[in-house]
Amino acid sequence: MFLKFAFYINILMKVTLYYKKVFGFLGLFCLLAGLRAQDSLATVTAEKGDGILSLLRKHGVNPYDHYDDFIAMNMDNLRDSVHLYAGRTYRIPSVKLDTVPVVDSIQKQTTEIKEVVGKDYAIFGKRHATVVAKSEKLKGAVYYLVSGHGGPDPGAMAVYAGKSLAEDEYAYDITLRLAKELLSHGAMVYVIIRDPNDGIRDERILKIDHDELAYGGKTVPLNHLARLKQRVDIVNELHRQNRGKFQRLIVTHVDSRSKGQNIDVFFYHHEKSKNGKKLAESIHKTFRKKYKKYQPNRTYTGTFGDRTELYLVRKTHPAMAYIEIGNIRNKKDQKRILVPENRQALAKWISEGVILDFEGGEIGRIR
Ligand SMILES: [Zn+2]
Repeated sequence: MFLKFAFYINILMKVTLYYKKVFGFLGLFCLLAGLRAQDSLATVTAEKGDGILSLLRKHGVNPYDHYDDFIAMNMDNLRDSVHLYAGRTYRIPSVKLDTVPVVDSIQKQTTEIKEVVGKDYAIFGKRHATVVAKSEKLKGAVYYLVSGHGGPDPGAMAVYAGKSLAEDEYAYDITLRLAKELLSHGAMVYVIIRDPNDGIRDERILKIDHDELAYGGKTVPLNHLARLKQRVDIVNELHRQNRGKFQRLIVTHVDSRSKGQNIDVFFYHHEKSKNGKKLAESIHKTFRKKYKKYQPNRTYTGTFGDRTELYLVRKTHPAMAYIEIGNIRNKKDQKRILVPENRQALAKWISEGVILDFEGGEIGRIR
């Protein structure tokens, strides 16, 4: 902290001279504001049992306002983007800081302050609106994300601690988190099922509502087939408009299909789609690797295969992966799905699989 401070004083003196000459008082004022914000960044060592939320709270930072800043600032020191390592040092975002000024080298940067500014997307909700660019790994790729059910159809239902859980709310939350990850790596993302007032939610029990709309502000029909057809039509029309680009579709469900079974995650693709198979396989591979690394004592029972009988798999034009994240009625799966940090980890893992798929992936025409 002291060294850092001395460093800024040094810059400050040089820059002050420059700014006095060139920009006058106003420029200096802006610069000072930037430096002060940077200087107020604190670092802290995580203790055993600390989570991001508790660590931020302990340091007087509202975890919900600064969760993403924290992740962006400490990315290299997080396991799966969400878990702390005990004994490591973390940077705590300054409470007022919304943008992060970066000063890299004294010579080059004395005249220039580069600001890493996030872009806001209302769909993620107030607390999670800002997407900070992490890389351009997915530049040029287009993704269509469809979360299962929505509107009048809640999907599979379960009861947890006396409260009702609906599949569509959890699938939607994971889908939004995935959308945010993909955007942060430079992808173009279409969220096909959209809730105008539920952003990314950091609660365990996600309130059930029925106001989700389909892309373009369309009401979601009640009839099962009409509902699926609406999604297929929207995705296929966008796929046509984006012809010539690398395009992929990801459908996410939290189903109860395999009731009573102790399952993990299922990945499906269209039987005849080479690119869909590659996408599903890439995500599956990422999950297998993560389980091996973080839960070596647990057997990974997720599977991967084709399921062409599913209407969406059969009818949609982009190469696609259909993901079933556990069973909302299974106690063990509930535990995983209810914890917001786990939903974040799931989204992160899917995004890593998606990046793996894009590297060396082919554009393809249909499927
Ligand atoms: Zn479902």
